[in-house]
Order: sequence, then C-alpha cells, then structure tokens
Amino acid sequence: MPALPDCIFCKIAAGEIPADVIFQDDRVMAFLDIRPVSKGHTLVIPKNHSASMMEADDDDLASLATHAKRVAHAVMRATGAAGFNLHVNTGAEAGQVVMHTHFHIIPRYSGDGLKLWPHLEIEPKTRAQMAEEIKKFF
Ligand code: 5GP
Ligand code: ZN
Repeated sequence: MPALPDCIFCKIAAGEIPADVIFQDDRVMAFLDIRPVSKGHTLVIPKNHSASMMEADDDDLASLATHAKRVAHAVMRATGAAGFNLHVNTGAEAGQVVMHTHFHIIPRYSGDGLKLWPHLEIEPKTRAQMAEEIKKFF
C-alpha cells in the first residue's frame, strides 16, 4: 500500500521526519521509540503502509520477523539487557496508537519492575471448547 499522507511512520520510512535509525533496507526500518518503555526500546516497521499486521503483506511480515531478530541481537549487545519482549499492539483496544504495522523490541533488565499480564484461571473443559471455536475459523 502506498504511503499514507498523515501516517507518522510512513513519514519516518520516507525520511521526511527524523528518527534514530538503526537499520533500513528496501522493505523494513528499525528506529528507537521516542518514548521508550525501557533503555533501547526499538520499533521495527515495514516501509509499506499497512494499518496492522493483519493487513500487512506476508513477505513484509516475514522480513519484519527476521529483522526483529537481528535488531534484538544488536539491542541486547548494546544495552546488556538480559532479555526482551517482542510486543505487538493490534487495534486501538489492544493499545495500538500508531496505525502503521510495527513490532516493539522492549529490552528487559534484571529487577526492572515492568509487569506483564495477569493470568486467568480456566477450567480444562472451557479451554477445550475455546480451542474448538477457534479451530472453526482457522
Ligand atoms: P503503539 O501503542 O501504537 O503500539 O506504539 C506506538 C509507539 O510509537 C509508542 O511507543 C510511541 O512512543 C512511538 N512513537 C509515536 N510517535 C513516534 C515518533 O514520531 N517517533 C518515534 N521514534 N516513535 C514514536
Ligand atoms: Zn504508514
């Protein structure tokens, strides 16, 4: 999809607004998040516009995944992070604010205090029913 005129990440991909770019080729770009969750928080985007990974071109997505791995290696080495979260918000309800596909690489440090999701308890029968429901749409 062509660049969207009002899309901030399309503008970064086109070099129209500045970013702290770590890597780019014809298809993908990685740059530092302007409001990082942790030191070294990096975003990896396809240069082609898509609102989310659900609409992204499959080849762009494959490239995004392999480059996320490469970028994560570099971020970990540069920061000394002990791990990272590969995070993708898809849809406003999931916290997506910038409607251009992007993967977050959020470095994690021992004792950083960041919390992930609370978990639900679920009956095995309910879980099995859920699996059957999802399988119908696969
Ligand atoms: P989302 O919530 O959409 O998954 O995350 C969007 C991310 O983009 C946020 O972490 C936010 O800090 C980052 N961001 C928003 N605008 C800009 C910008 O202009 N430049 C950079 N480098 N990051 C941005
Ligand atoms: Zn865009």
